[in-house]
Amino acid sequence: MALTVDLRSDTVTKPSPAMRAAMAAAVVDDDVVGRDPTMVELEERTAALLGKEAGLYLVSGCMSNLTALMTHLRRGDRFLAPRHAHILSHELGTAAHIALGVPLELPWSYAPGVPSPADIAEVAAEEPTHHAYYELITRLLCLENSHNHAGGFLIPRDINDALIAQAHQAGWQVHLDGARIWHSAAAQGITPAEAAGAADSVSVCFSKGLGAPVGSVLLGSKDFIAQARRNRKILGGGIRQGGVLAAACLVALDEELPRIDQDRIRADRLAAGLRELGFDAPAPQTNILLVTPPAAWGVSAPKLAQTWSEAGIGCHVMGPAVRLVTHRDIGDQDIATALELIAAGLPR
Ligand SMILES: *Cc1c(COP(=O)(O)O)cnc(C)c1O
Repeated sequence: MALTVDLRSDTVTKPSPAMRAAMAAAVVDDDVVGRDPTMVELEERTAALLGKEAGLYLVSGCMSNLTALMTHLRRGDRFLAPRHAHILSHELGTAAHIALGVPLELPWSYAPGVPSPADIAEVAAEEPTHHAYYELITRLLCLENSHNHAGGFLIPRDINDALIAQAHQAGWQVHLDGARIWHSAAAQGITPAEAAGAADSVSVCFSKGLGAPVGSVLLGSKDFIAQARRNRKILGGGIRQGGVLAAACLVALDEELPRIDQDRIRADRLAAGLRELGFDAPAPQTNILLVTPPAAWGVSAPKLAQTWSEAGIGCHVMGPAVRLVTHRDIGDQDIATALELIAAGLPR
């Protein structure tokens, strides 16, 4: 059955007419033999937005994170990431079996999805400084802003700065998985560059809230990106006339980025409506909402997700909750419709 309101993910968006027109008109060249001018434009604009020297276009967030880890890590280096980070839980272990890193999971001591600076200090204090012949070498801290699995929790700017400073003090690099950095920055009223802070590398997605069909950009220093470009090629990621894809991402920056906070506002309205219906639905920090039915109803998250899906509301189970995600193609009327459909199907 077709979904009436598709809240499965912010990846389900269809390219806008402006994106399709820009793709058709894109000026292109061979990215592998030389460079593709439209891809270069996207890389440079995104680097400026995130406050980094250079950028590299990749076809997905997973490929971008993996390329970053391959560039940061040597075989057997340890990297840290918060529990259920996308890099740990949703990328098929490529951080280990392709980038050859050894993961260490960090707790969510500061907030859901967010470790505390003390967590970092604790690991750093355990690091041997002498006779380290038999110890793992930690190289990298990975952060995720906003944290998908935690329910879209963002890393507040001051904590992000403190986490990065703590890692740098320990001599580690920092990679930020900023697939949804746009939402985090908008919710805090700061720029994406301010939200990213001094992270050494950042990965951002254009195919989520920004609604482009394909694309991520990895940002970092000129040297880092030059090395990452080689690693992208190792992964088979030379993207010949990739400007056709990058053109839609440029439209996303012009037309979607300025309105991105609407997604959070609509998610907030949806959460408020669900609370009125008796659900446990905390106010979302960004565009991701985790909902649980009250225990007294005796309804599990998978059962709730099935009921909603059958009623025409696209959703996903995430841990003990049902995840709803707002995006570009969800308007005010869709929120009202979702609440009506949910109210009509409440267990009684
Ligand atoms: C979706 C996502 C990715 C991966 O992006 P794809 O384009 O789906 O490969 C990485 N990190 C986070 C936090 C994500 O939500």
